[in-house]
Amino acid sequence: MSNIMQKRVSCPNCNEEFDAKIYPSINVTTDPQLREPAFDDRLFKTRCPSCGQEFLLNYPILYNNMKKRFMIYMIPGLDRFSLIDEGLEEKYSTVGNVRKRLAPTYNRLKEKVFIFESGLDDMPVEITKLYVSELVAKKYNLQKVEDGYLSMYNRETNSLGFTFLIGEEQKPYVQSARLEIYGKAVSMVSEVAQQERQMRGFINIDREWAENVIFRYKRFLKQKKKT
Ligand SMILES: [Zn+2]
Repeated sequence: MSNIMQKRVSCPNCNEEFDAKIYPSINVTTDPQLREPAFDDRLFKTRCPSCGQEFLLNYPILYNNMKKRFMIYMIPGLDRFSLIDEGLEEKYSTVGNVRKRLAPTYNRLKEKVFIFESGLDDMPVEITKLYVSELVAKKYNLQKVEDGYLSMYNRETNSLGFTFLIGEEQKPYVQSARLEIYGKAVSMVSEVAQQERQMRGFINIDREWAENVIFRYKRFLKQKKKT
């Protein structure tokens, strides 16, 4: 079940204090009507009763899709690889095979929801995104392009699309990728990143993680050559 509460907040525009509705826990399996407004931010926005300003509330949100077996714990600004919440581990101990992810921002939360709802695996997606971002960086003559997310998955054309935000203006640029790259990333994950699949708690599968897996995979290939 979802958890809906009231929280005292203050308006960033006029400083008026008021009670806003917050959703610390969203279960889209038991409350499917929350899925759409969660995905387009409507659920997390509030309007100041005094000046009418609309703003996004920043607080930790646990997003749970039991049917598709994933949970995303969005903790704004969180900068760590893993988090074990004993209370949550116990509560969901009978539910096996759930992918648990951390997300430091709304955009990351939404990307993870999109990936898992599309039936994709976020680990190879993150590696694919890293490779594709290198192509985009080359195209724009930049050292690297870090801000990007999966925005399209087409089963018919077997392709993925990533939207990257370029430069200071954060201009969106869409780069598609063949599913073969994703397939290659799937085998990289199964060769060198199996321990992450066994980990307890929530983990952060992001660009830094993908860089680390590519490093491990190169080392793995070198060792394989030697033997
Ligand atoms: Zn206000």
